[in-house]
Amino acid sequence: MTAVTLDIAPKMRPETQSRSPARLPVIGLTRGELTEALAKAGIPEKQRRMRMRQIWSWVYHRGVTSFASMSDISKDLRQKLDEAFSIDRLEVVTEQISNDGTRKWLLRLPRDERGQRHEVEMVYIPEEDRGTLCISSQVGCTLTCTFCHTGTQKLVRNLTAGEIAGQVLIARDRLMEWPHQLEANPTPPVGGRYVTNVVLMGMGEPLYNFDNVKTAMEIVSDGEGISLSKRRITLSTSGVVPQIVRAGAEIGTMLAISLHGTTDEIRNKLVPLNKKYPINELLGACRAYPGLSNARRITFEYVMLKGVNDTLADAKRLVQLLKGIPAKVNLIPFNPWPGTQYECSDWDTIERFAEVLNRAGYASPVRTPRGRDIMAACGQLKSESQRLGAKERLAMDAASAGA
Ligand code: SAH
Ligand code: SF4
Repeated sequence: MTAVTLDIAPKMRPETQSRSPARLPVIGLTRGELTEALAKAGIPEKQRRMRMRQIWSWVYHRGVTSFASMSDISKDLRQKLDEAFSIDRLEVVTEQISNDGTRKWLLRLPRDERGQRHEVEMVYIPEEDRGTLCISSQVGCTLTCTFCHTGTQKLVRNLTAGEIAGQVLIARDRLMEWPHQLEANPTPPVGGRYVTNVVLMGMGEPLYNFDNVKTAMEIVSDGEGISLSKRRITLSTSGVVPQIVRAGAEIGTMLAISLHGTTDEIRNKLVPLNKKYPINELLGACRAYPGLSNARRITFEYVMLKGVNDTLADAKRLVQLLKGIPAKVNLIPFNPWPGTQYECSDWDTIERFAEVLNRAGYASPVRTPRGRDIMAACGQLKSESQRLGAKERLAMDAASAGA
């Protein structure tokens, strides 16, 4: 099978998009916020909790995309809700399917206050025992890791909680995972599910968008909705030290650390944030991450870069650094992108590196690159969205005023 790209924008465009932009998006509100919003919309106090639960269940458990489908709510009330609220999805612009079954979607965000519509990417990786959805937390990234394609794109903006949680809903739509779709698609591969795991490893640094990521993960793990256990959600950070322990306490997902270097000298070059939060501080925060045990380990991600961080001395230093931390190591073969200065380490080198870790008792699977043919592999994501400088904005404004 060769990779295919489908342009599905026209078909997927929600027909409600032209309606009043003042409608409040439901997706992204916590249960408490939704109850408050129902109060503001004039729903009598006695009914509010029940209505909140009904809407919650329709949106997150049954996956409906319109109020009209909420059949246990009266027609009048459905209409009223439809006027006050929206449950629109982000627009799916393209869907690409790799020859290994990996899928990548380009998602278009609603127009922002400057009239721009930005885009983010999301990837689904099916494996025998799991289906992992890799979601984005920001458009672009403020950090500039030198081996990462996203890092070459300036931060455009944080995603809202609804845009983060909404990615999971879209994946379920496209994979036909909702109860009403499963009738036509009766054999989800893993325990009745397609999406069994979520990783915040798409575009952006999740700990720089803390509050929205926290709310979104609350929604995704809510037992009466999407119901993904927090043990099946992994937040990956490049090392925002002051937020790591807080993330453990308040978000409570599994943690992955993009380590990639074993000395400050090397890591400063690869992950420039290391100059602010050097390796010993980062590992200190990891040691203090709440709830660690052998069954609940931190994943250390280590991208294999030829001649940069892949010697046996690096592997031995890595073992020393991780001492005392319940840890797994994910060795990631470097995924190239146009214009990069790096190359992937040779296979032999990667195997020898893994061997040192294995001998020291660390499970260190080498992550097989997935979806390279559609630029969906780790670190290859980048959308065309760019933050416009003042000059470009003026030019845009002038152009649209003339239009
Ligand atoms: N910003 C977060 C999460 C997104 S990156 C973070 O940095 O952790 C997800 C993972 O892919 C990180 O470990 C990142 O370092 C890695 N990665 C980035 N570019 C890569 C590339 N070109 N090849 C392989 N892995 C890459
Ligand atoms: Fe940002 Fe993560 Fe890429 Fe670094 S690796 S530039 S933190 S997305």
